[in-house]
Amino acid sequence: MKRVLVLGGTRDARLIASDLAERGHHVHYSLAGGTQDPKLPKGPTARRGGFGGVDGLVGWCLVQDIQAIIDATHPFAARMSRNAVKAAMMMNLPCLRLQRATWHPGAGDNWTLYARLDDMVLSLADMPARRVLLAIGRQDLFRFAPLKQHFFIVRSVEAAPSYPPQSRAILARGPFSEADERALLENEALDLIIAKNAGGPTGQSKLAAARTLGREVWLLEPPTLPPASLAEDPSEAVAWVDQL
Ligand code: NAP
Repeated sequence: MKRVLVLGGTRDARLIASDLAERGHHVHYSLAGGTQDPKLPKGPTARRGGFGGVDGLVGWCLVQDIQAIIDATHPFAARMSRNAVKAAMMMNLPCLRLQRATWHPGAGDNWTLYARLDDMVLSLADMPARRVLLAIGRQDLFRFAPLKQHFFIVRSVEAAPSYPPQSRAILARGPFSEADERALLENEALDLIIAKNAGGPTGQSKLAAARTLGREVWLLEPPTLPPASLAEDPSEAVAWVDQL
């Protein structure tokens, strides 16, 4: 039995945490606390809110006598992932990051990959009116505020503090079926999807729908993270704890 901290906020993290708890490990499941009504895994002890940087994380792990850290945060939650690696090094604790392979375009895809959100916004600023499905979460929506010529359907789990001037919010939590994604693109006459290249199985329906309907996709590539032990899927992460 190990005392494990699972850094969460994703479906994969919930799977890992509940699976580990079922196998008899003592699991703390941690959330940043930004979502009002988060989904929680069955079994583990849940905690919410930042630790207070690397030092706070170290202190918390020492108090809880944590023996291993699994970082299963969203691939774009870079600060937490960097802090996890640093804290684990300071405590000499094993630390594993769940890192799904990113998506790659195939035949029939019309994708543009961007390393920086600012470059995406600049490209959009130069374009005539588009109808866009904007599915990048809530945090960076303000960057799209100057883009007055485009119409955005903004999809997020919870409401954002502000939206682009011409937009409509859809509050929904995935996963979405490919048929639903096709219906959304068609009913709203959307010609461009803007999303994060988060990888994994659940977000791919929108990409498949775009392929079928010949719609354009712009994806933001994930940030570069420090080297760490990696697992590509939840079962690999669970097996890693079992063999510690
Ligand atoms: P971030 O920029 O990497 O983290 C900002 C700060 O929030 C961290 O320094 C940490 O505060 C706290 N934090 C983040 N994740 C935490 C966790 N699991 N448990 C405790 N504290 C956490 O992260 P973010 O992009 O704001 O994302 C916040 C959370 O939402 C993440 O847990 C992530 O899994 C989830 N999420 C993010 C996205 C996205 O696109 N970014 C999408 C879906 C879900 P301290 O430094 O004080 O410890």
